[in-house]
Amino acid sequence: MKWYQLDVDRVEQKLHVTANRGLTSKQVEQRRKQYGANVLEGQKNTSKWLIFLKQFQDFMVLVLLAATLIAGLLGEFIDATAIMVIVLVNGFIGYFQEQKAEKSLDKLKELSAPVANVLRNEEWGKVNSRDIVVGDIIKINSGDRIPADIRIVQSNSMETEESALTGESLPVMKHATAIVKNSLEAQDQVNMGFMGTMVTRGSGIGIVVGTGMESVMGQIASLMVNTKKIITPLEQRLAELGKILIILSLGLTALVVGLGVVQGQPVYDMFLAGVSLAVAAIPEGLPAIVTVALSLGVQRMIRKKAIVRKLSAVETLGSASVICSDKTGTMTENQMTVKEVYLNGEHIYVTGDGYDIRGEYFLNKNKLDDDFPNLKSMLLYGMLCNNASLQVKKGKYNVDGDPTDGALLVAARKLGLTVMLGEKYKVIKEIPFDSDRKRMSVIIEDEKGRRFLITKGAPDIMLPRSTFYVDKTGKRVMTTTDKNNIDLSVGQMAEKALRTIAIGVKPLSKDDSIDTAFLEKDLTFIGLYGMIDPPRKEVKSAIEECRQAGIKTVMITGDHVKTARAIAQNLKLLPEDGKVLEGYQLNQMSVDDLESVIDDTYVFARVSPEHKLKIVKAFQKKGHIVAMTGDGVNDAPAIKASNIGISMGINGTDVTKEASSLVLMDDNFATIKSAIQEGRNIYENIRKFIRYLLASNVGEILVMLFAMLLALPLPLVPVQILWINLITDGLPAMALGMDKSEYDVMKRNPRNPREGVFARGMGYKIISRGIMIGLVTLIAFMLTYQNNPDNLIYGQTIAFTTLVVAQLIHVFDCRSEKSVFSRNPFENIYLLLAVLSSLLLLLVVIYWEPLQPIFHTTALSLRDWMFIIGFAAIPTVLFGYTKK
Ligand code: ADP
Ligand code: MG
Repeated sequence: MKWYQLDVDRVEQKLHVTANRGLTSKQVEQRRKQYGANVLEGQKNTSKWLIFLKQFQDFMVLVLLAATLIAGLLGEFIDATAIMVIVLVNGFIGYFQEQKAEKSLDKLKELSAPVANVLRNEEWGKVNSRDIVVGDIIKINSGDRIPADIRIVQSNSMETEESALTGESLPVMKHATAIVKNSLEAQDQVNMGFMGTMVTRGSGIGIVVGTGMESVMGQIASLMVNTKKIITPLEQRLAELGKILIILSLGLTALVVGLGVVQGQPVYDMFLAGVSLAVAAIPEGLPAIVTVALSLGVQRMIRKKAIVRKLSAVETLGSASVICSDKTGTMTENQMTVKEVYLNGEHIYVTGDGYDIRGEYFLNKNKLDDDFPNLKSMLLYGMLCNNASLQVKKGKYNVDGDPTDGALLVAARKLGLTVMLGEKYKVIKEIPFDSDRKRMSVIIEDEKGRRFLITKGAPDIMLPRSTFYVDKTGKRVMTTTDKNNIDLSVGQMAEKALRTIAIGVKPLSKDDSIDTAFLEKDLTFIGLYGMIDPPRKEVKSAIEECRQAGIKTVMITGDHVKTARAIAQNLKLLPEDGKVLEGYQLNQMSVDDLESVIDDTYVFARVSPEHKLKIVKAFQKKGHIVAMTGDGVNDAPAIKASNIGISMGINGTDVTKEASSLVLMDDNFATIKSAIQEGRNIYENIRKFIRYLLASNVGEILVMLFAMLLALPLPLVPVQILWINLITDGLPAMALGMDKSEYDVMKRNPRNPREGVFARGMGYKIISRGIMIGLVTLIAFMLTYQNNPDNLIYGQTIAFTTLVVAQLIHVFDCRSEKSVFSRNPFENIYLLLAVLSSLLLLLVVIYWEPLQPIFHTTALSLRDWMFIIGFAAIPTVLFGYTKK
């Protein structure tokens, strides 16, 4: 017998669990040992050795190693060993950088790992999906990815999409009854839910019958391809740039070598110098440093409650020009409180705040109790047509489930009503709420066996479905006056920023069809709820900061247009002349129509998730870089289409999380702003160290080239070049990646996404500073060598030191786009440490006798140092104070 052929109680028996209790901790522990974690295997990690060896696969490094070997064979042991050691150290550093990047990416994956709603020890709680065991009772909702194979115990119009498994993309309706037939394919086992498939509608409960590799998905997991490492656009552009630079530096190196040989330098010396120069000049370490800078930035974002799912988002965030944000839950607290009730044609006011159950009902200053006509039944219906539950923890009330539903429970409590589901009332069927339908219904059977339908939803959806009306005089056919009065009240409530919900009923007889198509019409309209959902405190200032940063904020909501407008005005999101568009207007517009008005539009009200895609497209057509938030299943397409898809960590569904590139751990709009700020910062820092590294390389190549042109001896020997590449280039560059931003990044317009790496004058800066560094080093060398033609080592030490010091001074210039003097040089402690340690290592190489023959150095006097510092400071002093 297969699971789908068994009745639920047989399944329970077999797995030693009951669906309303769940497993005990002891059972869980035991099964976890027996079956292992609920994960699909087969995704192997790259071995550490491979990562280490990869550092040497670079072509130039191989050439260098070969050259060293030749040197060794020719008896130049000191040179050979020194170069070997430097290459090894270089390899280790690359290895650790890559490890670090890899680790923080793993941590990210863990942070966004899926969780499941599990019943254990008779209590519902969230558990990491990998810790689910066979026999666990799990609850799944629309938007969830099912974490393991389950036998369905209860289905509230639950539909799943199983294309990941079966290739069939039409949703499958699920139910709980056993199926007799034999050997059914997965798609026909409609009382089963499968790992990795997703719930598109409704909700349900199931017993886990298969986990990990034992699941149906696990059996085909071996067929799945390993996920490749994804390269961000920036990394890609840098890789392309790298190729150009390789050709350029190889060309220049060949020129240097050629000139040297023509001028009679020993061929072997020139060969080794050429290869070292090429190794130094090629910025092979650049991509690694970029990845490290990106992942360090990503960690800073995590501290600000933003989880980056795609590294490329970091970069795109910096050029975001529009944020389209959900109102409910993202801009507001998502803590609803019923403030007003419209009933019997009158406005009744409710006191109390949040989910606190203390509060009273007032009509014209008179306190009402539960014998007030229709009030009790309206509140009762609100409790029955409901998906949330109220929980008390330490005297504080909390809502589990939809806050809108929770507010209705609290409102009923204020009149002393509590849920009587299970005892007095039985739910026969539930048609769940979703943002497309904007309503929800239940069929209830009371203790006497009488059935009725309760529907609640957006008033404009409910009115056309209502034919009767009830007030103090009883039930009657609804008149146009009734309708107008209701419309008027909805408007009045919405203008006070209240979210409105209408509720209605319809009696059903036992043999009435409970098919969805026949329900939800000819309702008796009972009343309206008006609930407040206060804006989050930080949002108003976040919107203002975004505005100053040239980013437009747009509000999207399913709520009434007046509610949306009131809240938007409250948040100062909607300017005086700003437009508000409604869902029905969007229906009549093409993307092009929308494009022509979208720049003036700030609020979209009464929209369905489908409209979001249109909004994204229209903004993109206008050339915007769009960030779009979403939480429900139907938001996924818009999130995918946007440039930065943002999902909610708390209230979001698995499906939107998977589609998104950024997850807000706190569901908060203000977190988007922080992430953008961080994204802009990271980009500026990356620019800084690219500038530093490339200017340094230009300097290094030019000293050698100039020297050859002037028929001078080699100003730098190979080990020196390699040493500079390793110590003076690498460390400070990393430190620049951790620099604070120069200006307030949120006071500038977004970066143009098409802007190249060298934009805004950076290319000029690299070339001009590089030439200067090369020139001063050459002059220092020339002067020293002319006065001491027999002491080449002395001249070379001067050149080496001048080059290093010039770079270490220049690194401070790279922190600023304006003047080097506009920034406090002691601000970046990492940079200070990097510079100081480079200097210290320089002193060791110059003054420690055992190293002198290896690095071709000799001790320098104080006078030499003054001379060196004087020259080394010239590029920065001369150029550093200008903007150019
Ligand atoms: P939002 O984008 O603000 O979250 P929704 O699409 O969730 O908007 O809701 C749209 C409208 O549907 C609300 O204004 C309200 O009238 C109605 N509504 C919201 N939640 C529920 C619910 N749980 N049951 C019935 N109606 C609801
Ligand atoms: Mg909602």
